[in-house]
Amino acid sequence: MEAKEFKEFVKATVDKIVDYNESLRDRKVLPDVEPGYLSKLIPEEAPQKGESWQDVFSDIERVIMPGVTHWNSPHFHAYYPTANSYPAIVGELLSAGIGGVGFSWIASPACTELEVVTMNWLGKMLGLPKEFLNCSEGPGGGVIQGSASEATLVGLLAAKERMVRHIKKENPDMDEGIIKSKLVAYTSNQSNSSVEKSGLLGSMPMRLLPVDDKCSLRGATLLEMMKTDREAGLIPCYIVATLGTTGTCAFDNLEEIGPICKENNMWLHIDAAYAGAAFVCPEYRHLMSGIEYADSFNFNPHKWLLTNFDCSALWVKDSRSLIEAFNVERIYLTHDKEGLCPDYRHWQIPLGRRFRALKLWFVLRLYGIEGLQEHIRHSINLAKRFESRVQSDERFEIVTERSMGLICFRLKGENLLTRDLYDRILKRKRIYLTAATYQDRLIIRFVVCSRLCLEEDIDYAWNEITSQASEIINSQTHQTGIESAEKPVKKLEHSGKHLGAITARIEGLNINKAKVLQKIS
Ligand SMILES: *Cc1c(COP(=O)(O)O)cnc(C)c1O
Repeated sequence: MEAKEFKEFVKATVDKIVDYNESLRDRKVLPDVEPGYLSKLIPEEAPQKGESWQDVFSDIERVIMPGVTHWNSPHFHAYYPTANSYPAIVGELLSAGIGGVGFSWIASPACTELEVVTMNWLGKMLGLPKEFLNCSEGPGGGVIQGSASEATLVGLLAAKERMVRHIKKENPDMDEGIIKSKLVAYTSNQSNSSVEKSGLLGSMPMRLLPVDDKCSLRGATLLEMMKTDREAGLIPCYIVATLGTTGTCAFDNLEEIGPICKENNMWLHIDAAYAGAAFVCPEYRHLMSGIEYADSFNFNPHKWLLTNFDCSALWVKDSRSLIEAFNVERIYLTHDKEGLCPDYRHWQIPLGRRFRALKLWFVLRLYGIEGLQEHIRHSINLAKRFESRVQSDERFEIVTERSMGLICFRLKGENLLTRDLYDRILKRKRIYLTAATYQDRLIIRFVVCSRLCLEEDIDYAWNEITSQASEIINSQTHQTGIESAEKPVKKLEHSGKHLGAITARIEGLNINKAKVLQKIS
C-alpha cells in the first residue's frame, strides 16, 4: 500500500470510527449471531492476490459489526467499563505509526522517558505516596503494563525473589528450591480471577480468604490463615488486596492488612483495577488509606480513565526488586547509558513493549485533571440516579451498598425471580448487565460504563428492567390465579409445602399476600 492509498484508507476509517461512536446508542448492545457465524461470511483461505482497501473496508459492516458487542454503548452496563476516547484512539494510531519497541532506553528514548513522566503525572493526580514516583528521591517508579493480571503476576514474582533473598541472608545454606516450595500467597475470595491465576502461573499457592459482610478482607482473617500456614512450615510471602472488587466493588481493609505485611516482610500488592481511577477525585482518596504499606499499586486507566485498552498503571516502591527478579543480561541488550533511566524490560514479563505512554499523554493533556475528575463524578452521579430509581421501587432491593459506579440489586424474594428477570433482559439485548451472587443471593450488577452515558440512558435501562419485572410479576399473579381455579381448595390446604412456596414468592414480590390468598381459597 502506497502513502496516497493509506491516507484515503485512514481517512475513511476515521469517519467510520466517528459514525460508529455516534450510532452506538441506536445499535443493539449485544449481537444476534451464533457461534461460527463469521467463518460463513469469509473464504476459508487467505486471498492469493492482495485486495483493494475498499473491498476490505466494506466488510467491516458486513462481517465484523454483526458480531460486535458494543462495549462503549451507553446501554452497556456489564462487567466494568473498558475505556474509549478520541484522544486515546489517536495515541494508538500514532504509536502504530511510529511502530518501535521500547524495551530499553536506547531502544527508543522517547518511549521510555514519556512513560516515566506520564506515570509521575498520573501518580501525583491520584495522590499516591511520593515513594511510588520516579521523580522522588528513592527507587520508586511507575510502569505501564498490558493488564492488571500482568501487574499481579509481576508483583508475585518480585515478592518471591525478595523473600528468597531475605531468607538466604539469614540461612545461607538453605536451598533456594526448598524455600520457593514453602512460599504462600493470600487474597480474598472476592478478588479477580486473575489473582488466583497469578498463583498458578507463579507456582505459589494462593489462599482465597473469606471476607466480612461488606465483602472486605480483614486483618484477623489473614493473621489466622498465616498462623496455620506457619505451623505447617510454610512461609507467607505475597498478598493481593483489592480496592474495588470485581463482584461488588468492595474495599479490603488496608489499615489492618498493611501492618501485618510489614511485620512479616510480605509483599503487599494493591489491585485497584477499576476503582483506582476515582482517586483522581480527592473526595475518594480516603478509600485508599493504608496504601503507604503497599509495595506495589496498580489500576487500569483502560477501565475508567478514558484510555483505550491496553494501559494498566503499576507503581512500585522499590523498582530494584523488579530488576533483581527479572534482569537477564545479554550483550546485545546492554547500552552505555544504563542506570540513568529505567530499562523497562526489567519491569515486565515480555521483552518488547509498545509506545503506550502516547495515548495516556494525549488523554491527560486533552482532558486535563479537571476533565478526568468530571468524568468520574459524572459516572458516579449517574450511578446515584440509578440507585434512587431502585430504592423508589419496593419490588426491588439493593443488596450491597452502591460503590462507585456499581449498583448490585435484585427482585425481592426467591433467586428464581431475579434469574428470570436477568434472562429476559439478556434475551432482549437492549441493555447488557451481568449477574453475580452475594451470600447465596442472586444479584444483578448495574455499572455505569460508557463515557457516552447520559441520564436518559439510565432511565432507558430502568424502564427496560421494570417492564420485564412487571411482566414476571403479572404472570406470577396470573399463574397463582389459574392454580386456584383449577385446584380444589382442600387439595391446596393439604399440600402445605406447595402453598408455602407460593406465599414465599409472593411475599418477596410485595404483592398483597392477603389478596392473593383470598384468590386461592
Ligand atoms: C478487571 C479487573 C481485573 C483484570 O483486569 P485486566 O486488566 O483485564 O487484567 C483485575 N482486578 C480487578 C479488581 C478487576 O476489576
